[in-house]
Amino acid sequence: MTDPFPSPEQLGQLSAEVAKYIRNQRDKYRPGALPLSSEQRITMAAYFSPELLGNVRLVSLVDEQVENPEFFVVGLDLVDPSAFTMMAAITFSDVIVGNVPLWDDILFHELVHCEQYRQLGIQKFADTYARHYLKAGYHRVPLEEHACLLGTRFELTPNEPFSVEQEVARWIADSRY
Ligand SMILES: [Zn+2]
Repeated sequence: MTDPFPSPEQLGQLSAEVAKYIRNQRDKYRPGALPLSSEQRITMAAYFSPELLGNVRLVSLVDEQVENPEFFVVGLDLVDPSAFTMMAAITFSDVIVGNVPLWDDILFHELVHCEQYRQLGIQKFADTYARHYLKAGYHRVPLEEHACLLGTRFELTPNEPFSVEQEVARWIADSRY
């Protein structure tokens, strides 16, 4: 039996599991990961700080897939974990893991997540992700909504650069995550 609104205890348990999964995956992939290419840095320089672009690492998975998370919270029918491995790419803090080649639109979206992680920290990122995911599903997670919104701007108006750092800071200040 599932309560449609998770208890604070269930939510706390889930965000702890999510944060642990993110940290483990980040630590697993970071050592073998590569920096952005100089072409990628040039393309993204109009939107992201040089510090962020210098610190992020990329992994392209060829014959393997991202490990399925095992989130288990008593009383909650959760999150179809395969949803994670079906995604084109997934970002663990400062490491982007691609199941497909990281074309610019995918890379941009994931770099927005890197900036969100940088400003929120892994625990807060996991908290807000878990809370909204449970209430409304993947497409209503504001962290995703914002990355999609900015991604659309990046694709549709390539001659109007903007600062993702400022955009993320604004959403945090307005409590939109
Ligand atoms: Zn995303």
